[in-house]
Amino acid sequence: MLENSTGSQEKTEIICDIDEPPLGPKTLEFKNKFYPNTTLKEWNNWKWQISNSITTKDQLEKILVLTEEESGAFENNINLPFKVTPYYMSLVINSNQLRKTVIPTIHENVYSDEEYEDPLEEEKYRHGCVIHKYHNRALFISTNRCSTSCRYCTRSRIMHKKETNWEEGLNYIKDHSEITDVIVSGGDGLLLNLDKLNFLLNEIHNINHVEIIRIGTKIPIVLPQKINNELINVLKKYQPLYINIHIMNADELTIECKEACNKLINAGIVLGSQTVLIRGVNDNIESMEKLMRELLKMRIRPYYLYSCDFIKGSSHLRCKIEEGIKIIKELRNNMSGLGIPTFIIDTKTKKIPIIPNYKKEMIEYLNF
Ligand SMILES: *Cc1c(COP(=O)(O)O)cnc(C)c1O
Repeated sequence: MLENSTGSQEKTEIICDIDEPPLGPKTLEFKNKFYPNTTLKEWNNWKWQISNSITTKDQLEKILVLTEEESGAFENNINLPFKVTPYYMSLVINSNQLRKTVIPTIHENVYSDEEYEDPLEEEKYRHGCVIHKYHNRALFISTNRCSTSCRYCTRSRIMHKKETNWEEGLNYIKDHSEITDVIVSGGDGLLLNLDKLNFLLNEIHNINHVEIIRIGTKIPIVLPQKINNELINVLKKYQPLYINIHIMNADELTIECKEACNKLINAGIVLGSQTVLIRGVNDNIESMEKLMRELLKMRIRPYYLYSCDFIKGSSHLRCKIEEGIKIIKELRNNMSGLGIPTFIIDTKTKKIPIIPNYKKEMIEYLNF
């Protein structure tokens, strides 16, 4: 024990996992500074992390000195409520890049003409909690909650609103035998309590025509404490299972996160990453290459790099398509092809993969 817990262990009802997760030095320093009376057991308990999430300006100001642009955001009515786990805040405090992903600024109140509440027109393809946009794939909105709110969230319109009705969604998938691939998304499905998650995965798994299940999550990044043996024991029953983790910057890849990913991989789950190209977060070759290299070392296969969707109030975060193409081209020069995600523009009708143009090289080759 690194601190005197002054009896707070007795006071709390929180039940801890038996398996002790690791703790990075910076996270420990943060915990001791801002949560001196919290025991490591509490800190490592995901329920403690959730119930102690930072959601107000007052709480945030005890930890960070806000810039004028950040401070102003809380005076206005921002679309998406502010929310960060104490664990993720321990990374944010040391990273200006991660700071931009979760701390709102006044720029979120600037709406440009090409921005919409639902730029991908998902509501048009919606049947209960299922979005059926691609013939044989369905996206299941399992919950409207996340443990941490990303400022560029593509589903901010539904976040923290009325919960979704699973029955209608499950029946829809059962009635559509063309659906072979179900993506459990949200919100963050891994945030569901274990009985509910187990029920949902079991229902989907038992549908004959469903061949694979995918989960889209940021839990291993923002709440790695949740990836405990109990959760693993549920997940591993539903193979073949793919988990795509929302990862933005190498600063997120702490010892806690690495341990969480290892547990998932060792349970036979295939991990991929999804990244959004965001101004000031990962919009240069150095940070993108570092991220992709680290992911390969962690046995995570980079899957998609998205251009930032045209959601309301996101223009300050969006990069030009050309910037993304340049990064992809440089990645191709610099590293293993295994580490190169597909660069995607998501639209009202479909995903457009953007591939750098190699016409010049092709012509040179043909004329040789
Ligand atoms: C991206 C997406 C999918 C999955 O697309 P893949 O290219 O197969 O990964 C499925 N449904 C919706 C609504 C999506 O946005």
